[in-house]
Amino acid sequence: MSWARNKNGAVWNAIFKKMYRLDKEKKRLIFEGQKLEPRSVEGNLVGFCCLCEGELWSLAYYQVAEGWMVAARCQKCDKMAIIRFDKSWSWEGDYDLEAAEPAPSTGDASKTSSIFDLPREELETVFTPAELRDMERCKRGEPYTRQNLYRARAKYEKFERLFGVKLDI
Ligand SMILES: [Zn+2]
Repeated sequence: MSWARNKNGAVWNAIFKKMYRLDKEKKRLIFEGQKLEPRSVEGNLVGFCCLCEGELWSLAYYQVAEGWMVAARCQKCDKMAIIRFDKSWSWEGDYDLEAAEPAPSTGDASKTSSIFDLPREELETVFTPAELRDMERCKRGEPYTRQNLYRARAKYEKFERLFGVKLDI
């Protein structure tokens, strides 16, 4: 195996930024609209971090037509990378790897709470409790009653007029 680094690495990283995403739970690699199942989830020392030179340990191995891809994480700074190899395991390049967004059901609600950081009294002036409940559910990706959301949407303009906040759910 060759661990040589070339100077183009940074350029490739820029071009392919955000291209590789890892479903951490199932260790599936998502890229170019595909979901690859890992062939192996062995943890091996597979290289060194380009940021801090910490050890990169493999999370999962994937086989593709062109060769192999290894998802790895730096033990020191937690940066994740995809390392690509050809069929004979010659190093081809390192690419940024990001964690895929968690499914809405497992995601934490804090991320989607921004709209509901609005004063409750303001919201309640315009929307009924059922409408508010279904706006929140929709925002969190949970099942909701469509009619309530439609009714709520019809009042967004009114809400904006009263409180100067544009809602978008
Ligand atoms: Zn690192």
